[in-house]
Amino acid sequence: MSMNNQGRPSSAVGGGSSDAFETFSGHKGLRLAEPLIYEIGNHETTGVDVEEPSDFTSSLGALERDGEIGCAGLSEPDAVRHYTRLSRLNYGIDMGVFPLGSCTMKHNPRLNEKMARLPGIGDIHPLQPQSTVQGALELMQELSHWLMTLTGMPAVALSPKAGAHGELCGVMAIRKALEARGDAREVILCPESAHGTNPATAAFCGYKVKSIPGKENGRVNLEALKDALDDTVAAVMITNPNTCGLFENEVRDIADAVHSAGAFFYCDGANFNAIMGKVRPGDLGVDAMHFNLHKTFSTPHGGGGPGSGPVVFSDALKAHVPLPYVVKTSDGAMELKEWPTSDGADPTLGRLTAFHGQMGMYVRALSYMLSHGGDGLKQASEDAVLSANYILAALQDVMTASFDGPCMHEALFDDRFLKDTGVTTLDFAKAMIDEGYHPMTMYFPLVVHGAMLVEPTESESKYNLDQFITSMRGLAGEAAAGKTDRFAGAPYLAPRKRLDETQAARKPVLRYRAPEETP
Ligand SMILES: *Cc1c(COP(=O)(O)O)cnc(C)c1O
Repeated sequence: MSMNNQGRPSSAVGGGSSDAFETFSGHKGLRLAEPLIYEIGNHETTGVDVEEPSDFTSSLGALERDGEIGCAGLSEPDAVRHYTRLSRLNYGIDMGVFPLGSCTMKHNPRLNEKMARLPGIGDIHPLQPQSTVQGALELMQELSHWLMTLTGMPAVALSPKAGAHGELCGVMAIRKALEARGDAREVILCPESAHGTNPATAAFCGYKVKSIPGKENGRVNLEALKDALDDTVAAVMITNPNTCGLFENEVRDIADAVHSAGAFFYCDGANFNAIMGKVRPGDLGVDAMHFNLHKTFSTPHGGGGPGSGPVVFSDALKAHVPLPYVVKTSDGAMELKEWPTSDGADPTLGRLTAFHGQMGMYVRALSYMLSHGGDGLKQASEDAVLSANYILAALQDVMTASFDGPCMHEALFDDRFLKDTGVTTLDFAKAMIDEGYHPMTMYFPLVVHGAMLVEPTESESKYNLDQFITSMRGLAGEAAAGKTDRFAGAPYLAPRKRLDETQAARKPVLRYRAPEETP
């Protein structure tokens, strides 16, 4: 297959693969090939006519550009087509089942979008006088109220901008609390199954990370945890339900052990969508927990954002919430507390973000909460758990479930069912693309070999789940029968085949170079 100077196949669709029907255009029927925007059009022209300014003296002096600017010169229809064609190469939750475990890709109700675009919300500016944005501040307070009620915790910080940022906020609050009592501790414990952001956050905050082994049944090993707890441990970071899709049923004992060692219990709440309305983390002994508003309360995500990661705090940590936060004054007005107290004795963290966080995400999350109501949120958790168990039950005779018994909101399989078939975990995932599905989360959590983590969420109908199950059963059957052809070159039907993802991550090509510039 020939490559262009950007390292991409030069016949954009299907070049050189076994589906050898070559077209003259490079298009495949109505699936249109699309080069980079710099590779189409004419750099010397622009899509709009702007008249030369008259009597113009440039004040740029020697800094004035004398060469071509090098922008793609497309007309409006060509620019529209370019982005529309690219969008049709994309796969999203609005196209079909998106079973990425841990990521919680649930349908985003259109009502959320309508609310986020209301002029009184979409058009305001973070530097407006507070008297002109009372409604927006009240909305933030209402959201805070829901988050505290759902978790049974007395304080919340809205401003963190993602789950990982929420972890940072929580661990910084823990460090503040320890400093306040003159207790320099240096270790944070994370279970083996933890999401990578947990140890990364701990290390970023200057802590040493120690790993806690799991048990046969996929939960944290309480005895090993107790052995690791001493007066050097600042906190334990635990995800519940955990990344194997299982509820940590010894969570109260974990909390007690952590507290009696003088440490704090940070809970990674990315999987709160499985328990909202069912159990309150405050009742389980949690000291700080982030939400991923963009997972639990719908709201679009993927492709890098935006996200929102509010953190709730227990009594032991609430003095250390970051600025700013909303308070209701005695005359009923909403006030944003933006500055530490002037006496210098301020226990807050200071600021984590320039302004007040992701307002649009607050609106979407609150819209989801209000349209479901408390009972509806509980039902959403129950439906998410039911969907995952439906998949687990329907597939466990042909794929291998990693742990016995029912799961919470995600079903974890591993690659034992592929052993000796000649089909790898990656082959299986790529074959799913030919079936029209985004693959599930692969190779995570790390505690099981060749993990495949399926999270259907509450969004999928039984019809959709059954179709998905039919495809999975079909693929598992072909693998078991030794029919490796379907897997070896998969995906056969995608516009790009197997990309070198390691190379793409390690050496991303972020800048277009014209052919004459290429070394
Ligand atoms: C998604 C996720 C995170 C990180 O959240 P971001 O919003 O992507 O920063 C942390 N832990 C778990 C278990 C997650 O699923």
